[in-house]
Amino acid sequence: MKVAQRFGNGHRVLVTGGAGFVPSHLADALIERGCTVVALDNFVTGSKDNVAHLAEHPRFTLVEADISDGLPNHHPALAQRFDAIMHMASPASPTDFEKLPVEILRVGSVGTLHLLDRAVADDARFLMASTSEAYGDPKEHPQRETYWGNVNPIGVRSVYDEAKRFSEAATMGYRRSRGLDAAIVRIFNTYGPRMRPDDGRAIPTFISQALRGEPITVHGTGDQTRSICYVDDLVRGILLLLDSTQSGPINCGTEHEMSMRQLAETIVSLSGSTSQVTYVTRSADDPEMRRPDLTLARDLLGYQPEVSPEEGLRRTIDHFRDRLG
Ligand code: NAD
Repeated sequence: MKVAQRFGNGHRVLVTGGAGFVPSHLADALIERGCTVVALDNFVTGSKDNVAHLAEHPRFTLVEADISDGLPNHHPALAQRFDAIMHMASPASPTDFEKLPVEILRVGSVGTLHLLDRAVADDARFLMASTSEAYGDPKEHPQRETYWGNVNPIGVRSVYDEAKRFSEAATMGYRRSRGLDAAIVRIFNTYGPRMRPDDGRAIPTFISQALRGEPITVHGTGDQTRSICYVDDLVRGILLLLDSTQSGPINCGTEHEMSMRQLAETIVSLSGSTSQVTYVTRSADDPEMRRPDLTLARDLLGYQPEVSPEEGLRRTIDHFRDRLG
């Protein structure tokens, strides 16, 4: 199935979390298409540096606001209607789950409701960035969108998992009851330039350790698996869903699954590091395996990831090398 581009020249798109890792790449791609982009961020985990290259762009505006407190409607960039609203804002790394539990719950609940109301008022397409964490520690492998998940509702990860599950429920509720043109993407582990070296996720942690010649700290035995997706592939998938009339939820990521031990060894080898792989205590409720079933994304959107893990990791290592000096 080929999806025709629906959002481009002259369209106004609101990207929440626009100064974050994935959303800043999304902003780049939307600008590239000719859209006007308003990025809204409170910089809790994002950084102005991620969009510094867009600062002077005539079709880009960065607005500082906390979406959990409502939309800053007094700001001139928010006065006009949006054609699309993409709710990408949320802290997303395991260390954030411990440091920012209430902030995560708020942005994925009241934050989502504020944006859904604005999308209804604007008659905009609404896209909710959900997560593979909605499947929890899955009992079904690979994970299809029909799987309801296995989430510990009071575990340390639950603030994130349940907030995203609430956001999904809210998105579908608004779609059904208010006729909102809404869609949900379930994003699987994505990596690339602009991740924070210290954000606690495996890839930036391993790369930073490898480049500094420090021991690589793999959690548990390292047999747990993830399917890692380069950010350009994810952005392409998200935009296909935005352009389509599908509601989802639709998985987005890659089907290339590897163990954490393999990932650590690949990073050591690609970065030419002398670091040794070591094993540390694994965090609670850490999922055993993760791999999306991408049948829906392929059949409904024509989505196909293109960047191999070696190529994507090489590009990310280069970026971190520049950044860490
Ligand atoms: P990120 O932390 O780099 O980006 C999130 C951005 O949201 C940050 O800039 C942060 O400052 C901003 N933000 C958080 N709370 C906010 C609030 N209340 N108001 C305004 N801005 C706020 O993380 P990311 O990895 O780029 O994730 C982006 C989105 O994609 C998140 O919703 C995340 O849940 C989802 N996601 C990411 C992955 C991944 O592997 N990267 C996987 C699944 C889902």
